[in-house]
Amino acid sequence: MKRKIHVNVAVLSTSITILVAVFMLMTFYRFHTDNQMNSLKNTGNLISNILISSDVSDINELDQLKHYKGTNTRITLLNRSGDVVFDNMADTKNMENHRDRPEFLDAIENSQGESIRYSATMGYDTYYYALKLQNNLILRVSYQTENIFNMFSLILPVIVMIVILISIISYYTSFLLANHILKPINILTKNLEGNFQAGDLEELSVYDEISPFIRTFKNQNKLILDRNIELEEKANLLDVISSSMGEGIILLDINTKIISINKSGIKLFNGRNNVSLAGQDFIRLCRDLNLNEALEIAIEEKSSKEIIIHHNSKYLDVYINPVLREQRLTGLLLLVVDTTEKHKLDLMRREFSANVSHELKTPLTSINGYAEMIESGMVKGEDITKFASIIRKEGGRLLNLIGDIIKLSKIEDDANEKKLEPINVYFVGKEAISTLESLALDKDIELELTGESSFIMGNKGMLQDLIYNLLENSIKYTNPGGSIQLSVVHNNLDTIVKIKDTGIGIPSEHQDRIFERFYIVDKSRSKKNQSTGLGLSIVKHIVEYHNGKIHLESEVGKGTKITIKFKSI
Ligand code: ADP
Repeated sequence: MKRKIHVNVAVLSTSITILVAVFMLMTFYRFHTDNQMNSLKNTGNLISNILISSDVSDINELDQLKHYKGTNTRITLLNRSGDVVFDNMADTKNMENHRDRPEFLDAIENSQGESIRYSATMGYDTYYYALKLQNNLILRVSYQTENIFNMFSLILPVIVMIVILISIISYYTSFLLANHILKPINILTKNLEGNFQAGDLEELSVYDEISPFIRTFKNQNKLILDRNIELEEKANLLDVISSSMGEGIILLDINTKIISINKSGIKLFNGRNNVSLAGQDFIRLCRDLNLNEALEIAIEEKSSKEIIIHHNSKYLDVYINPVLREQRLTGLLLLVVDTTEKHKLDLMRREFSANVSHELKTPLTSINGYAEMIESGMVKGEDITKFASIIRKEGGRLLNLIGDIIKLSKIEDDANEKKLEPINVYFVGKEAISTLESLALDKDIELELTGESSFIMGNKGMLQDLIYNLLENSIKYTNPGGSIQLSVVHNNLDTIVKIKDTGIGIPSEHQDRIFERFYIVDKSRSKKNQSTGLGLSIVKHIVEYHNGKIHLESEVGKGTKITIKFKSI
């Protein structure tokens, strides 16, 4: 626009200069010819008066006019046939007839006539004025002067110089003018290009015609700025929400191409975080056929779908929702929830129920069997005591089992509302040792306690169970003559409990699983030991309840060492 204004103004002013020059030249030419002709007419009239008072027939009289040379005026007398009877500058004998000359014809007809003739070769204009005299002769006066265009060609360089000068001046003034006119528009454009700077607009001094526009612009500018801030805040908020969500949120277009995916979505499908997935087909991220089939059905039926997939050892619940705009499907919104933990828990619960039923059923069946035999009177007197002892043992096993189940569920129940108090763990260990001393003695196992007082925030009953269970296991799985060491030490900020035995050890392939509920390494031995397979599971839960850590080291034939770390107080 600036260039357009600039060029237009420059072209216009140059054209005007040229036009004015041409117009002035024409006016001057007109003025010049009128002036020349009038002066010639005056001369003609003057000579005609002289000729009226003298005897024209006397050629000698006329010869006097030959002296009328100084003014460069030519005087010619013609008869009515157009023959030259006198000429003050040439010999009449050599002169041709003038009957066809326009000024002569006009004079014959209208008493006077005039004409101007231009000689291209000579570069002169000749002015003619003819007058009919009373004696029927025609007086013609003529005057030769330089042609105006010749004169113009002489001053042409000056005119060209003036035109160039005016063009240069108009070029620069048009440049300044364009800048001045466009300054407010330039500032507005700068603002429109997104460089919103309120200051610029405030500084803007504008001409009256544009000020309503500027005012509207300022208002709209402010409105856009406010909207931008609002939108940015909303986008940031959505970004924060979606990126801090544990669930995956994925937006797909109707061709199942990814429009947007949050961090969790990428993580759940094991995508790389630094690679943009936008525009990529969803099937490249997750090749699960069932999910992709469900996506196709959702697109076809424009309906919601829910599907559970097993992807990279994870269970994912995928909720597929159609995105509709005016009843038209524009895409799909996927909410992906990782339910692996829930599945694991469900599985554990199912296994637990099956195990509990099984573990309850076994002693009950045996109790029932022996009781039936006694009831039917089939058992001899001396065997009754033996059978009653078996029934009591099985009953004891049942009680143990039920006791352990109750303990486990109590730890889980109390986990949300912990009841903690300062506990000296060393003292708890001491109590457990004294309780189990006789059991160890029976098996000829040495039981030793080392360490110092160390306090943690804990649940006394649970900590008793924890140390008791571990010591009891060590006694159970250590052969006579072995030894067991319990140590409680205070190390930096931790209380460390170690139970080390010289027992049978746990094969490495079982070490990962012995904390699972009902997991028993050697079934035959466990039956003899009245084991339930819940002891270490209870231990693990108690450690977790106290936010502690448990570590197992064991070697078959050498022994087992269990280390537990709690935060001291
Ligand atoms: P249980 O009631 O059978 O002792 P636990 O959960 O306490 O159940 O232990 C699970 C299994 O771990 C046991 O069956 C046993 O095989 C093994 N185990 C536990 N402690 C020891 C240990 N100190 N030495 C060797 N094996 C052990």
